[in-house]
Amino acid sequence: THFGYETVAKEEKAAKVAEVFHSVAGKYDVMNDLMSFGVHRLWKRYTIERAAAREGQKILDIAGGTGDLTAKFSKIVGSKGQVTLADINDSMIKVGRAKLVDSGVVGNVDFVQANAECLPFPDNHFDRITIAFGLRNVTEKEKALQSMYRILKPGGKLLVLEFSKPALPLLSKVYDIYSFSLLPAMGKVVANDSESYKYLAESIRMHPDQESLKGMMSEAGFDDVEYTNLTGGVVALHIGKKF
Ligand code: SAM
Repeated sequence: THFGYETVAKEEKAAKVAEVFHSVAGKYDVMNDLMSFGVHRLWKRYTIERAAAREGQKILDIAGGTGDLTAKFSKIVGSKGQVTLADINDSMIKVGRAKLVDSGVVGNVDFVQANAECLPFPDNHFDRITIAFGLRNVTEKEKALQSMYRILKPGGKLLVLEFSKPALPLLSKVYDIYSFSLLPAMGKVVANDSESYKYLAESIRMHPDQESLKGMMSEAGFDDVEYTNLTGGVVALHIGKKF
């Protein structure tokens, strides 16, 4: 049946995502720097700026992976605040936890293994929620956005950092060549895993463009949704508020 097919497709996607991130966890940070020529650091720094978090706040970093955003938030919210890194994949959490502990980020950070589609936190709980390069891996994005809305405090904001649609046709072409040829080749050389990086390129291409994601966030309940293109729209930062 149609429904049977959908269930299988969803399970397949979830299994593929799990396989990819178990496989890349150990090499994830190196590959991130290589693949983005280090620019992911700037995209993340910009996200932190726009989050405008303050001391004492509660922050949730969904699909937090190896914890780049979590580490930055931990310094900002200080000992009176709390940062929760949530990720579905225990290999990524393990690598993330080890990295943060090594760099002295301890005390106000906790780690929760959770699916973005059904976040195990109380209503109106977090001042800021971030999901960086995570939403495109989530099978049921609408459900995930609704779940984020529920646990965000009124007055809080959600920041979604994700690959998006390059604004210029030429950039779009260059980017296609890069992601479908160069990316899997780099994955093969560095991580001996071209399949995972092929998946990555496909998931980027399938992800909703700027306007579609903006619509989905409004649909999930977020107010004042806006986005900023970064690196010509290769990446976009969407921000939604809860009034
Ligand atoms: N946020 C980190 C960063 O920007 O470096 C990690 C991004 S990594 C590309 C994507 C992460 O999303 C992985 O750690 C993966 O395990 C996680 N993920 C995938 N599907 C998820 C889901 N349904 N719920 C929560 N996390 C998920």
